[in-house]
Amino acid sequence: MTIEPRVQLHRSCSGIRIYQLPVETFPQHINNVYLILDGDRSTLFDVGSGTPQSVEDLRRGFAEVRARFGEAVDLSSIQHVVISHSHIDHFGFVAYFTRESDAEVLIHELDARVLNNFEERIVLASKDLRVFMERSGMKPGARQELEEMYRFSKHFFKSVELDRILSDGDRIINGYTVHHVPGHCPGQICLQVEDVLFTADHVLSRITPHQSPASITPFCGLEHYLQSLDKIRRVEGVALALPGHEEAISDLPARIDAIVTHHMRRLNQVLEICREPASLVHVSKQLFGAKSGYTRILALEEAGAHVEYLFQRGELRIANLEEVSRESNPVIYYETRRGADAPLPIPPPWGCAGEAGARDAERPLREEAP
Ligand SMILES: [Zn+2]
Ligand SMILES: [Zn+2]
Repeated sequence: MTIEPRVQLHRSCSGIRIYQLPVETFPQHINNVYLILDGDRSTLFDVGSGTPQSVEDLRRGFAEVRARFGEAVDLSSIQHVVISHSHIDHFGFVAYFTRESDAEVLIHELDARVLNNFEERIVLASKDLRVFMERSGMKPGARQELEEMYRFSKHFFKSVELDRILSDGDRIINGYTVHHVPGHCPGQICLQVEDVLFTADHVLSRITPHQSPASITPFCGLEHYLQSLDKIRRVEGVALALPGHEEAISDLPARIDAIVTHHMRRLNQVLEICREPASLVHVSKQLFGAKSGYTRILALEEAGAHVEYLFQRGELRIANLEEVSRESNPVIYYETRRGADAPLPIPPPWGCAGEAGARDAERPLREEAP
C-alpha cells in the first residue's frame, strides 16, 4: 500500500531537523516514526512494528529523506533509538537495532520489562486479563477466544537487551528532556527537543488514546492518565507537538482540554448507565455497541478504566456484594451511589476551554497489542 502523506520535515527553534516518517505498522494502522538529526547526533523516536510492511515503509522513508532532502542517513547508522512506550506498533522492530546495529536503545524503566522479558509479561498479563474478563461478565467461549488472540502476540516478538533505562526528568542525547506520562501505558514518555514535544500515544490529534484499568496493568488507568495530561499541559515552551499517530498538533493545551472533556462526559455516561446495577460487559455495550474480535477487549478495557476511576472515588458501589464475598470470582455488578434524582457530578479537573478538536473523540479504540 502506498502511504500518503509522505515524509514531512519539521524544525525546532534552533533548526534541529525532524523527519516524520509514516509507517503502516498493521493493516490500516499508521504510526509516525521520527528521525531527529541534530548536529552529529542521529536519533529515531519509535521504530514501527517490525512487520514486513512496516519495515519496508521505514526503509522507503529513509530513502526519501536521502533523495528529497539530501541527508546522508540510513537505518544502520542511527546512533540512538528512543522507544516511546511498549506497544508493539511502536517498538516491534527494535531487535534490528539491538542485534544488527550499534545504536543505543533507550526506554523508560516501567516499560523495559516488556522488551527484555516479553514472555513473562504476556503470561502474566493474559492471566490478569482472564480475571478481568470473568468479573466483567463475558461468556466463557468468548473469553477463551480472546485469551488465545492475546497470547498469539507472544510469537510476534523475542526479548531484547536494552542499553539505557530512562526515568522522569532525565536529559538524554543532546539535552532532550524525558517526561514520564503513565496512563495509556505504564512507562510511556513524551520527549522534549527544544520547543518540540513528541507526545507518542499520550496526546493524539483526533483519536482519544486507549485506556485500560490499573487492575490489569499497574500505572495504566484513567487516574494516571488524567494526571499525566495535566503534567504535560504545564510543560512550557512547546510550539509543536508531534504524536505517534495522525498529524501534528499546534495547540496542545486545547487538544488536552478536549480529551479531558471527553473523559468527563464518558464518566457521566457510566454513572447514568449504572443507575441500574450493570456488569462491565453491559456498560461496554451501552457505551460502544456490540463489538467483535480484539476490539471487544479494547472496548471492555476502555469501559473498565472509567468504571474503576468512579469506583475508587466512591461514585459507584458493588450491587451484589453478598455474592462477591461468597464466590471465587463472580461477575461484579456496579451501581451509582446517588439517588435517581441526584445530579451527576464529575466536573473537569481544571477549567476546560471546551470542545475544540474533540470532533473525533468518540472513537475510543486503538488496535494495540499489549
Ligand atoms: Zn500505544
Ligand atoms: Zn500507538
